[in-house]
Amino acid sequence: MSSIDGLLAEARARAHKPAADQGPQPRLHAAILTCMDARIDPVSLFGLGRSDAHVIRNAGALATPDALRSLALSQAILGTREVLVLGHTVCGLFERTEAELVDAIRSKSGHRPGMELGAFHDLDQAVVETVEDLRRCPFLAYRDGIHGFVYELDTGIVRPVAVKEVDLSSSTRARPMTGLEMLRADALSLKRTSR
Ligand SMILES: [Zn+2]
Repeated sequence: MSSIDGLLAEARARAHKPAADQGPQPRLHAAILTCMDARIDPVSLFGLGRSDAHVIRNAGALATPDALRSLALSQAILGTREVLVLGHTVCGLFERTEAELVDAIRSKSGHRPGMELGAFHDLDQAVVETVEDLRRCPFLAYRDGIHGFVYELDTGIVRPVAVKEVDLSSSTRARPMTGLEMLRADALSLKRTSR
């Protein structure tokens, strides 16, 4: 039996379904952006119940275009107001170079990826950059409640990272975006190449 067969058997046995009165809006009006690392269980870590929060995951908990897309939709149509960014120690992207990650994919798949893979050497700084990217994203309607944390896997502690305040006054949600802001938004998906 493959792992997927096992997972489907579990789902059949449990027949989970939401309560009839549960809408799609997260009860806590919050989203969590964290890494895909299998050792992180946001549900048990934060004591989440079903329908409590959006959880968006990718390799490294980075502000990728798809993370921004998901958070923009989360705020615009599903009522979230806060974002908790959670990096973690011993991340697979930590202390590897882009070249090493590219090579790993190329050696396994036979194809050299053109996308940025997000290697980083300073964990706290990586979380800070994700928070700053989110705070600058003009598509997010609520940017005051975006905060960064590091989950230390060896101790189980979640600690905050220091992020300097970003001036959001140049792009408010009260008016359409200017052309320059549109350019900045487009640039967001490209800006991490310097890391
Ligand atoms: Zn990770």
